[in-house]
Amino acid sequence: MPPIFPGSTIGVLGSGQLGRMFALSARQMGYRVHTFSPDTDTPTGQIADVEVVASYDDLDAVRAFARGVQVVTFEFENVPAPTAQAAAEFAPVRPAGHVLHVTQQRLREKTFLTEGGFPVTPFRACRSLLDVEQAFAEMGAGVLKTASFGYDGKGQRKILTKHDVDTVTGPSPGIEYIYEQLVDFERELSVVAARGVDGQFASWGLIDNTHANHILDVSVWPASVSPKLERDAEDIARGILERLDVVGVLCVEFFLTRSGKLLVNELAPRPHNSGHLTIDASVTSQFEQQLRAVCGLPLGSTARLRPAAMVNLLGDVWEDARGSPDWAAALEHPDVKLHLYGKLAPRPGRKMGHLTALADTPAHAVDVAVLAREKLIRRKA
Ligand code: AMP
Repeated sequence: MPPIFPGSTIGVLGSGQLGRMFALSARQMGYRVHTFSPDTDTPTGQIADVEVVASYDDLDAVRAFARGVQVVTFEFENVPAPTAQAAAEFAPVRPAGHVLHVTQQRLREKTFLTEGGFPVTPFRACRSLLDVEQAFAEMGAGVLKTASFGYDGKGQRKILTKHDVDTVTGPSPGIEYIYEQLVDFERELSVVAARGVDGQFASWGLIDNTHANHILDVSVWPASVSPKLERDAEDIARGILERLDVVGVLCVEFFLTRSGKLLVNELAPRPHNSGHLTIDASVTSQFEQQLRAVCGLPLGSTARLRPAAMVNLLGDVWEDARGSPDWAAALEHPDVKLHLYGKLAPRPGRKMGHLTALADTPAHAVDVAVLAREKLIRRKA
């Protein structure tokens, strides 16, 4: 199939900040963007040429949407399988529906990884309390997670003691859970990678991620790791994208254990929060790379312009700043870049935007980014 050239229209399933940043890249390169989701005045819709508002289950609306675009991609991996199938009747869906199928469900994802020989923490399916008791007996401390629709720690419970097992409410009937052995990790890292239609592979190497309340808080690039560890992580990522036959961008989230071993935590078949710093710090951002990949164009360079750190801006910032963050104070440092997602209601825990700081060392970039965020809420004299 020939490449999809600028001037063509890209369809995005989902309408959040990932779609927004993708749409900004697409528009920069002269593409038109249509977005599809059940919501109105969305982060993506504000940038797109056309915002279709319909349920993902409305397959006629999905087909009509796909008829009006040259390629369909997504920014939200819980797009139902029938939706991706209906879209695929009229336009290529990239990454394809089978990638969504594997990555939408933790048990399928971990089984796929195990079968491919990729390192993961021991796990088992749980459908009853007895299963949880057995898992605890076999594996010791662990994390009980809903197999589907979990993100940012939602639907998760740590099981450290027999008492925790005894006080598990559920598993709810009909809902599948996964019990994962607790990983004693030193750090959390990620590799954001892309694969083109022709199999070309590109990655930005390891990014170091710190979470607060299960939500990504700070990302730093480059991660301070040995070249060998970085090579190993990129080899794992390459292997996963190849085995899954991904066309597009996929993020591999890793645990680095205290004994120095990499374990894959989970996969996100789209640009990832930890890759937002590539917008300002790399020759090619993860969003431009997604565009190039899904359009069948050559991938761009992932070379780093400068070390960078990103801090998320959750709705809590607005609360702490009594409704009006001090943007000018945060931007006093000339190497700080502000990204806001156009969301109207700054609810606690909601991702509203991020700041990226560029500096001569990763550690300095973190200091600058964290300070800039603090300045947002510092009371003015
Ligand atoms: P997840 O939604 O699977 O990415 O989990 C959210 C966060 O919970 C991760 O970023 C980890 O900080 C923590 N976590 C998840 N699974 C495990 C595990 N098996 N062992 C230790 N911590 C975990």
